[in-house]
Amino acid sequence: MATVEKPFRIVIVGAGLVGLTAAHILSKTDIDFVILERHENLTPELGSLLSLWPPTFRIFDQLDLQDKLEPVLNPIDNGVTMSADDGSIFTSWNPGELIKKNHGYGLKVTHRPLFIEALYQSLPDSAKARIKVKKHVFKVNVSDDGVVVECTDGTVERGSIVIGLDGVHSRVRQCMQAMEEGRAAPSISETPKSPYVTTYRMVFGSIPIPPTLPNNVNHECASGRVSTQLLTGNSLAWFGVYEALDKPTSERIKYTEKDKEEAIQRWGHLYTAPGMRVRDVFGLQDGNFGMINLEEGRVDKWYWNRIVLASDAIRKLEPHAGLGYNSGLADVVVLVNKLRRLLETTRSPDTKALEAVFADYQEERKKDEPIVHDMSMRRARAYAWLSPMDKIMTKYIIPYTSFGVYSTNRIYGPVVSRAPVLDWLEEKSDTKNLKIPYAHHPIVKGKKSKNALSRNHSYYNPSAYIGVVIAAALTGVGLQYYHRILTMISPKAT
Ligand SMILES: Cc1cc2nc3c(=O)[nH]c(=O)nc-3n(C[C@H](O)[C@H](O)[C@H](O)COP(=O)(O)OP(=O)(O)OC[C@H]3O[C@@H](n4cnc5c(N)ncnc54)[C@H](O)[C@@H]3O)c2cc1C
Repeated sequence: MATVEKPFRIVIVGAGLVGLTAAHILSKTDIDFVILERHENLTPELGSLLSLWPPTFRIFDQLDLQDKLEPVLNPIDNGVTMSADDGSIFTSWNPGELIKKNHGYGLKVTHRPLFIEALYQSLPDSAKARIKVKKHVFKVNVSDDGVVVECTDGTVERGSIVIGLDGVHSRVRQCMQAMEEGRAAPSISETPKSPYVTTYRMVFGSIPIPPTLPNNVNHECASGRVSTQLLTGNSLAWFGVYEALDKPTSERIKYTEKDKEEAIQRWGHLYTAPGMRVRDVFGLQDGNFGMINLEEGRVDKWYWNRIVLASDAIRKLEPHAGLGYNSGLADVVVLVNKLRRLLETTRSPDTKALEAVFADYQEERKKDEPIVHDMSMRRARAYAWLSPMDKIMTKYIIPYTSFGVYSTNRIYGPVVSRAPVLDWLEEKSDTKNLKIPYAHHPIVKGKKSKNALSRNHSYYNPSAYIGVVIAAALTGVGLQYYHRILTMISPKAT
């Protein structure tokens, strides 16, 4: 008698930013899935900023989301870097234009609650029906046959694999690591130590655009161990105060209203845009703002058995460079590409075949991990200086060299160019003939696009990055003299 293959089914834990985008991706496939989300409301109460990079727009194009998301997107025309202490301007330029020339899309930011709402509302009804809210996952069981996921309300979901998209404090990760190590998972009431480390914490929120400021400008203000940000969009502005902790920690900290008030008092005098200080910004907001730890780090193993993790469950990036969601989406793109290929050969893959796909996914995604982490860590430290070199870099080297252009072309550019696309779904926009060509293109009608970036292409050259660091260090040394001359010409240059 012929055996009947069990239909492949994915249980996703977490309907956050990446979980909802995964719902869009999977609804374009014939793969069955369900998403379990512990909250009733998918939209966060607090509105933080979310910036999107060009490869994410390529995926949105493939998912037919461009028009649906455009109303909640804001272009960023200009970036201004200033001193948080005295308001003097270090640099002012338009990185968005250069990025658009290089990659076909500029930089855009969005208000997180509006973006999540737009992502959810643009899902087909069949996908919305697969998102189950108020389902707090506390246990994951695996067998050769599949997975069983248990929620605190007694709900049980069965499937072929589990994808943990449940964020920084991932319960799926805790269960997976415990099973792999042959121990019991921590009780749900425990707060296990994070695999990530917090160096900075942040106060954030949104306000109406201050009348004295232009729209669509990102102001970032630097100082010792603290930095501020005020980014204006089309009709809203987002602020942030980032401060270094006395000592990095892996403890989970919940901040109180008093903590927030004290932070504003402490940093009220700092500039956050030309003519605007932190206390002015707080005068414009309605009291609805947050304070959180900004963890950084990654976990070594991203999968075990029939469980695989992605996005914040495996890596946490400091948000200055705006790469967390963008990287998490790239994880899901690579994972689904590989799963689809496997399912073309069998609809009921065994654990070994699945583990091989997960290992392949981890290997591919890990190639760009070091540089993505480095970019995020450097960006944070370029503003809230932890060392004299951080200060020298921001205050003297970057303003007096074309480092911004160089790093956009030679550091950011290659990472963007290597970002994945859904290799089975058509890309409608023309992403050919760009200054920095993309390495990956969908396979349309059985043909791979010809302009895929070759490994020998100069943008792959890893020495470019080392070159920048060496150039920066050399400039730093020579700068002592350069800076003395500048001070003589204009004392304000200090
Ligand atoms: C202040 C700030 C600014 C940022 N700015 C940017 C930016 O500009 N650009 C960018 O790309 N990234 C940015 N990021 C990072 C970005 O927010 C994250 O990388 C992104 O949210 C990760 O998406 P996710 O879906 O993996 O996790 P999340 O968005 O955290 O979603 C996880 C979901 O899982 C659910 N969940 C958790 N545990 C369970 C459980 N046990 N059972 C069921 N459900 C569960 C949660 O309720 C949540 O809905 C920023 C982050 C912060 C903090």
